[in-house]
Amino acid sequence: MWQFDNTYARLPSALYERATPARVRAPQMVVWNDALASELGLDDVTQDALQAARVWSGQVLPEGAEPIAQAYAGHQFGHFTMLGDGRALLLGEHLTPTGQRVDIAFKGSGQTSYSRRGDGRAAVGPMLREYIISEAMHALGIPTTRSLAVVATGEPVMRETMLPGAVLTRIASSHLRVGTFQYAAGWQESLLYTLADYAIARHDPHLLGESQRYAQFLRAVALRQAKLIAQWQLVGFIHGVMNTDNMSIAGETIDYGPCAFMDIYDPDAVFSSIDEAGRYRYGHQPAIAQWNLARLAEACLPLLHSNRDKAVDLAHGILDEFRTAYQAHYEQGLRTKLGLNTAEPDDATLAQAYLTLLQLAKCDYTLAFRALSTGEAAPLALQVLPAYDEWLQQWQARLTREGRTVEQARLAMRGVNPALIPRNYRVEEALYAAERRNELAPLQALVAALRQPFELAPEHHKFAEPPPSSFRNYQTFCGT
Ligand code: AMP
Ligand code: MG
Repeated sequence: MWQFDNTYARLPSALYERATPARVRAPQMVVWNDALASELGLDDVTQDALQAARVWSGQVLPEGAEPIAQAYAGHQFGHFTMLGDGRALLLGEHLTPTGQRVDIAFKGSGQTSYSRRGDGRAAVGPMLREYIISEAMHALGIPTTRSLAVVATGEPVMRETMLPGAVLTRIASSHLRVGTFQYAAGWQESLLYTLADYAIARHDPHLLGESQRYAQFLRAVALRQAKLIAQWQLVGFIHGVMNTDNMSIAGETIDYGPCAFMDIYDPDAVFSSIDEAGRYRYGHQPAIAQWNLARLAEACLPLLHSNRDKAVDLAHGILDEFRTAYQAHYEQGLRTKLGLNTAEPDDATLAQAYLTLLQLAKCDYTLAFRALSTGEAAPLALQVLPAYDEWLQQWQARLTREGRTVEQARLAMRGVNPALIPRNYRVEEALYAAERRNELAPLQALVAALRQPFELAPEHHKFAEPPPSSFRNYQTFCGT
């Protein structure tokens, strides 16, 4: 049952524009996330597939929906720009049966006043890609926006070639971004206060009424990001376009574009074709997150203290906390990946030594940790390194010191080192079948496997295999 309770649309109108989803010729449901729909209490809002396709492409607006395009700004690859939902819109906020407030948004639903020269549309391929990867992230336990539906519009979109169009329904804790604060700060100070109060009420309500609430809010955002980015690093997720408009205040992974999972462990791994300088490479994500938070802090300076120097000091303190918290989450995550229950000062060195070996041997990151967790043979390239044997002995000695057997450690490790990640070549295969052959079975099978990333059923083995060598130079595109 729909339970709209739209609060963003009550905020000052400088923050958004009313918008209407575009009419499309022949909407047709491509994928529907049944489990998510029931979680949201939205499994009963349509009667049949045709009506569902019409609702989830914005052809029929549910009662209570108030579609708006949100305004925001952002640093894109380091350059400040005015942006806004150019091909997305917020249908409204829905209260789930458990009382959780979620944004229901469309992506690819046509032009808005922020579209600049864009057509406001999206192609089926990139929307299905977001569906697969966001659902995989969720199954891996990583905070993310979710994907409820992809509806083909029956209309072509013009990219390098003509592609079939689609609308994705995205569910998020909110669509507040670092860039939303940058936008408000550039508009006027009172808007910044209003936005910050709104964000606190929505994401950190325990801070309401606190005298230092804005600094504490900033700290809360930074700590959420510290945890999120550590989780990305621990599974080898590369966002690809960590612009400040693509960083969520709620701490969810948002705006899936040219993202990809790393195969071979490499701090310099980059997949996005537009990231020529490697700004958003794997090993640089924590530093970029901190840079983005610095832009947020900069925008929020007037909220932190009336004295600018004091405000800057507070901001620096929070950014330092981000760094420390990130490091703690990451190191703790590596400990659990190695099956360690306790903490010793040298654990980070032990973990780093393993990563260095993986890099040296050009090992698949996921498979190497998984093999260590199951006791299967390590990748050959690793086995032949004399230093690997030494490392194994150190690891075993470390486990012995905490009174854990290798078997006990491995049991726990299988719960944190995924067997399955969305392998780029498998994602491409599923998209190819869906786009070119109208076959959804491969995509459904892939998504089903990715929903259980820590268990490897025999029928899912093929999804765990490393990429063929033809995928070594795999590139992703922005999908706009
Ligand atoms: P993204 O890289 O997806 O985060 O998008 C960056 C900005 O470009 C956002 O303001 C989008 O709304 C806008 N944008 C991306 N694709 C399109 C499109 N096809 N039409 C209009 N705006 C777009
Ligand atoms: Mg974006």
